[in-house]
Amino acid sequence: MFRFDNSYARLPERFGTKMAPAPVADPGWVAWNGALAAEMGLDPAEVEASLDVFAGNRVPEGAEPMAQLYAGHQFGGWSPQLGDGRAILLGEHVHGDRRWDVALKGSGPTPYSRMGDGRSALGPVIREYLVSEAMHALGVPTTRALAAVTTGETVLRQEGDVAGGILTRVAASHIRVGTFQVFAARDDAEAVRLLLDHATARHHPTAGGPLGFLRAVMERQAELVAQWMGLGFIHGVMNTDNMAVSGETIDYGPCAFMEAYHPDTVFSSIDQFGRYAWSKQPDIALWNLAQLATALLPVMGEREAAVREATETLEGFADLFDAAWRRVLGAKIGVNDPALGSELLAIMAEHRLDFTLTFRALAVDGDVVDAPPRLEDWLARWRGLAPDSEAMRRANPAVIPRNHRVEEAIQAAYAGDLAPFHRLHEVLRDPWTETAANRPFRDPARPEERVERTFCGT
Ligand code: AMP
Ligand code: MG
Repeated sequence: MFRFDNSYARLPERFGTKMAPAPVADPGWVAWNGALAAEMGLDPAEVEASLDVFAGNRVPEGAEPMAQLYAGHQFGGWSPQLGDGRAILLGEHVHGDRRWDVALKGSGPTPYSRMGDGRSALGPVIREYLVSEAMHALGVPTTRALAAVTTGETVLRQEGDVAGGILTRVAASHIRVGTFQVFAARDDAEAVRLLLDHATARHHPTAGGPLGFLRAVMERQAELVAQWMGLGFIHGVMNTDNMAVSGETIDYGPCAFMEAYHPDTVFSSIDQFGRYAWSKQPDIALWNLAQLATALLPVMGEREAAVREATETLEGFADLFDAAWRRVLGAKIGVNDPALGSELLAIMAEHRLDFTLTFRALAVDGDVVDAPPRLEDWLARWRGLAPDSEAMRRANPAVIPRNHRVEEAIQAAYAGDLAPFHRLHEVLRDPWTETAANRPFRDPARPEERVERTFCGT
């Protein structure tokens, strides 16, 4: 089915552990992604016939399955060895001039599982499928979901025994900041060099050396975080092992889209101190990039000069992010005036206005219903600047994966009903127009429906 060329598996043995996924008892379909399969040049009939592959019960031809090694800073604390504890990279599928990692998530224990069971509950599989595909439709670089299956087994989680699931995640690569860190921390400069060459060739072919690579990753991250913030997206767990050097959003754990706007918003139950709050994301991206820079030092020549150059490069992040954020915010209000945009955000925060609906109302109606006086004043000034409503419609979606809707799809799936999942997935494929079908999905949660906390829970 796949046309694999496994360049990562050809790197030295210490880059991971070659092993097959652990089979499951009784696989069943949740979904497979026809649009993505077509993009990848896969034969739909073969995909349809490959439930056993997506469940980890059959290793497809040409695969060289492996668990990848990495490390990372989790909430600022150093974890010297992480790695694919519940995932297996099957291989790299090549189609035309594109190459995708195809990996199973929830595929059983590996040497990197630590205390975990290597499995995933169905809920997080549903969540990642919906949110990653929504992000793609919203124009945000992201890993994709090719398939989701049930395992016919249960996993033990906080809430008790729940149905297990496996997601097939497709990514430009799974190389993380933490992949560089693991080798740097082991004083394995040769591995850092090999990884740098590999990642450069795959993602930043014109980078020309470690500083150029760092700069290219910085550019992508600045752009990515600005895009997240423009959608009210909070990643929730921006650990260095969850930052891909490709610039794709990766690891949809406790992520969430904010409804009532406030810059300090946090959803993740484990983010007690708001490290990864909506407005903190650019600072954290830079913090992570500084870890990447540190990990690249072993291949940057003489130490003192390397530190100076890396520091100077990192100092460029503020401008990169500012430029990206100006563009995003400018498109959202249809006027290239960041101060005016910031003023709107301050008003929205004061009145806890719905992030998505407020901007969409500006784009579609040029107005906000029941606007507080301060907003009326802002609207009058804004209208005077003749905002570009066409651009605004393309920057301000009508529908996002609201937490209560994702939760509804998850709970129904646990009860054996996949209809809400399919309905929501269909609606999220076109977030840019108001339709009869997406009507109920545009509304914010009622107070009793509100999801205030999200959990990793995998
Ligand atoms: P995350 O916070 O989801 O990015 O995961 C951090 C680390 O924990 C990674 O090394 C994962 O592979 C590992 N991990 C998370 N859940 C499990 C699980 N159920 N079994 C084994 N390892 C896990
Ligand atoms: Mg992770």
